[in-house]
Amino acid sequence: MQFSHNGLIIALDNGNGDISFISHAHSDHVNGVKRSKKHSIIASEETIALANLAGEFVPLMRGARLLNAGHILGSRQLLVEDEQSGTVSVYTGDISLSDNIIVKGCEVPTECDKLVLDATYADPKYVFPSYDDVCSSISKWVNDNRNCNLVIGAYDLGKAQEVVKILNEYSKVVPLVTEKAARFCDVYKKFGVKLDWFEVGTDEAEKAMRDSFVAIVPMRKATRYFCRRLSEAFGRKTLCAVATGWALTHRFDTDTAFPLSDHADFNDLKRYVEESGVKELSFIQGEGNHLRSLVEKKLITTSATIV
Ligand SMILES: [Zn+2]
Repeated sequence: MQFSHNGLIIALDNGNGDISFISHAHSDHVNGVKRSKKHSIIASEETIALANLAGEFVPLMRGARLLNAGHILGSRQLLVEDEQSGTVSVYTGDISLSDNIIVKGCEVPTECDKLVLDATYADPKYVFPSYDDVCSSISKWVNDNRNCNLVIGAYDLGKAQEVVKILNEYSKVVPLVTEKAARFCDVYKKFGVKLDWFEVGTDEAEKAMRDSFVAIVPMRKATRYFCRRLSEAFGRKTLCAVATGWALTHRFDTDTAFPLSDHADFNDLKRYVEESGVKELSFIQGEGNHLRSLVEKKLITTSATIV
């Protein structure tokens, strides 16, 4: 996917253009650019650090703006306004409209002709509970199980740091994290996000593991089998959970699941479409079929056509 602007092709989270815009540091948004070996990149400072990007970082050209995306640290949307026609195009990348414990919710442009929208949860079955309720339920689970070891599956970048912060602030717990997640925590800290964690394999982590502990692990590790092994190894009951928006609909092999999402839910996407006044709408990350049918049946206040 690309935007054409001032005679340049701006590739959107891929390497097929004169310049690549990278919305945020999740690998599915970065790897295409890394593979292309083209090195003219527009990205936030945080994204450059989190994704360990190398290349030439070009300043924003006239008529282009980055808007907060509210997804993970450094996530941005790209807005370009054509000088001749005045047409405004926006690429959201991954977005979340609500504030979370680390980043503010995304900025919704008030004028937008063409919109490429994150449709990850563009389905009415994805309406998330309030953020505070989800944080409180994580905290309650931790507090109710202080005598157990607890394992929480979360993506290494973005979600893991959010869970660290929730555990620090709601439960006064310093969790263990993997080496990979710890590297991302370091970058968050460098950009002013206060986080406390222990990196697995360090002396302080070993010390923390003498008592009951909470560990944040990659999603694939958060299984009952893994927890049984931990229970045997530590001689203490181990419970596991996952923290993901998919918890609303998917079953996980865990004791519990928290619908902690860093994406917009269905109602938020509807609101984005309505408030932005978009005229031409297309989707990334999912088919957007439910939004498509709402637009086509005129159930959203929009004059948008789907392209
Ligand atoms: Zn993402």
